[in-house]
Amino acid sequence: MNSKWIPTVCYHCKAECPILARVEDGVLKEIRGNPRARGKACVKGMAGVSLEYSPDRLTRPLKRVGKRGEGKFEPCSWDEALHAITGKLSDLRDRGDAHKLTASFFPHSISDPKWRFLNAYGGFINTALPHCDSAKIVACIKAMGGVPNHHIPPNFASVPRGGVVILAGRHAMGCLDDAAVPRDILNAKDRGAILVVIDPIFTADAAKADWWIPIRPSGDTALFTGMTHHIVMNGLYNKGFAHNWIREGDFEKLRVYLADKTPEAMSKICDVPAQDIVKLAEMCASAPSVGVDSFKGIMLGQALDFGHAWTNFLAVTGNIDNPGGQPLPDLTPLSPVLPAPAGPDLAAKGWHRTGPDKDTFGKYSFIMEPTWYEAQAIKNGDLKVLITAECNPALTEMGQEEWRKAVTMTNDKGEYQLEMLVSYEIMLSDTARYADYVLPDKSYFERWELLYMPWWYNFGHGVALRQPVVEAPGECRHSNEVFIELGKRLCPEYFAFKDDLEYYDIQLAGLGLSVDKLQEMGGIWSPGTTGFRKYEQNGFGTPSKKVHLYWEDLKDVNQAMPRVGLAPEYEANAGEFPYILISYRTIFHQGSGQWTHNNPQLRDPIGGLMENPLLINTATAKKLGIEDGALVSVRSRTGKLKVRAKCTERIRPDCLGLHHGFGATVGRVAVLGEGVSDNILIPDAGMTLDWQDVVGGESHVSTRVTVEG
Ligand code: SF4
Repeated sequence: MNSKWIPTVCYHCKAECPILARVEDGVLKEIRGNPRARGKACVKGMAGVSLEYSPDRLTRPLKRVGKRGEGKFEPCSWDEALHAITGKLSDLRDRGDAHKLTASFFPHSISDPKWRFLNAYGGFINTALPHCDSAKIVACIKAMGGVPNHHIPPNFASVPRGGVVILAGRHAMGCLDDAAVPRDILNAKDRGAILVVIDPIFTADAAKADWWIPIRPSGDTALFTGMTHHIVMNGLYNKGFAHNWIREGDFEKLRVYLADKTPEAMSKICDVPAQDIVKLAEMCASAPSVGVDSFKGIMLGQALDFGHAWTNFLAVTGNIDNPGGQPLPDLTPLSPVLPAPAGPDLAAKGWHRTGPDKDTFGKYSFIMEPTWYEAQAIKNGDLKVLITAECNPALTEMGQEEWRKAVTMTNDKGEYQLEMLVSYEIMLSDTARYADYVLPDKSYFERWELLYMPWWYNFGHGVALRQPVVEAPGECRHSNEVFIELGKRLCPEYFAFKDDLEYYDIQLAGLGLSVDKLQEMGGIWSPGTTGFRKYEQNGFGTPSKKVHLYWEDLKDVNQAMPRVGLAPEYEANAGEFPYILISYRTIFHQGSGQWTHNNPQLRDPIGGLMENPLLINTATAKKLGIEDGALVSVRSRTGKLKVRAKCTERIRPDCLGLHHGFGATVGRVAVLGEGVSDNILIPDAGMTLDWQDVVGGESHVSTRVTVEG
């Protein structure tokens, strides 16, 4: 028997943890975290074996034979599918409409060849997750400089004794980030760190916390600002950091701004007692470190204001780029693949990066929800070909109904307004149901991929290699291989390299590496440290080289300092819709639907979730006459659904909770008919356009609802 452990990288969710895969005679048997990479595997990661051998795996390209959405397909050859796709893309470019191609995908890395194809062809990139933490990234850049990167949590492994770890609306033990995070937080606790969880739901994180603060949704900006008030006004701030590293004049402006933001005043907004705001502030001011892990702000995404309050708090407590504090990422010097395509000149076409119309979208700072954007662009005639990979807009984003309507919309001649929809999938999804061609993708156990991270949780910056550990079934091809093939056919001058491996070799040359060498090294390269207080060498990446508390460029919109009021969604329609619906996650399911939901190990009735009941506080249920397990009707201003109630003390009485990602209409789950889609209830960006720029990122992930027995 030939059995070996092979290092690679998990992708059962978007965290991409370093793992080891045990392969026996060519069959994947077991998965565990890669100890050399400090890695851990969560329950989803370990259940990747079932995903790999799922009977739902697609093994041949499919061509639509029914109407879009009917889900009727017949097998076709790769030649036929690629011929049809290149034909359509040639035609689009000949019409001068190359920018009317959009690809939606999860950006594993800027080294991903999909980016290159879109830049070379002239298409538009619309990532699969544009909104989660974009406002916090913007806050990080404005305040501290730094490299734009997907959510950067504190380095929990470096939290010193007595350090404070704050999880604010962050379900770290749901592994939204890295399976090593829970281990590192619990180890930090064992070393004497204090864990504070700020969340309207009593999550798995709250169960491990020293202190759970059930905040009012959207109250996080007020809470952090109240703490900053107490710290600054009582002289508890980090004087060394403030004196040396906050831009001249900003601290005085902060004092003026904070004058009326007392803990008492902030308490009225966030519904956290003033004495608790003071207690937490004093705990943080006297701790050797404070790390705040958040994502997009708590539940009602007033994300930019929260991001700003968060950076102000970190600056006054001196918790930037220190052990246990907020890391600042570095770039890895990969080599460019030449010639580098310039990318489409979208501004010249009257476009803005957040949408097809510069006049409408130009003022929005953030990348809009892909589902909403795609729906609008199809309706406007600005999106003609859509390619999706590893994302599921028909189910997992607010506005799913708008998207479904838009992709089935026809013109006067009865032709689809969206001329072609292509979906790469390892198994059928709600999105694939609408596709003209469904292409069978390789799983993460079957493909090569160079993952480049400005900040990798376990190492700081570095690169990691995902490598095939087993053969792909049937005719599966990885989307990156196919995008390279499309590039060779449509823009060969930019695709002169042989294949994906040669493409990665060129990039790795900048590090003195190659794919072979990286493989020999165990698949990971990193300088081996996140590095701390790097700013002491060259200052921060801001124009002044110091931390900016006051954002002059947002003075016009009254956001030079964070606004502490609740998000518009909290205030809107409170009469008709008295409860806040919170969309949350657990460790058993990733957000995209089919991979975890069709996995029997993760849908086990004891260990995992079969369905997503509505969490309702026991007292609220009693007031409404709702019994545990009763079928209830939940309604928002966008939709209505029926779901079973789960009465619990573990949620605020003014909130209701639904686990995100359920409600698939395709696959085993759909056959069982279990679970509901929270997105039916949550308004899309189009309903809140006037808030979009105000709140930052997505306008919300939660909404107001009413519930009836
Ligand atoms: S958090 Fe779990 S499922 Fe996600 S990549 Fe890591 S091990 Fe895999």
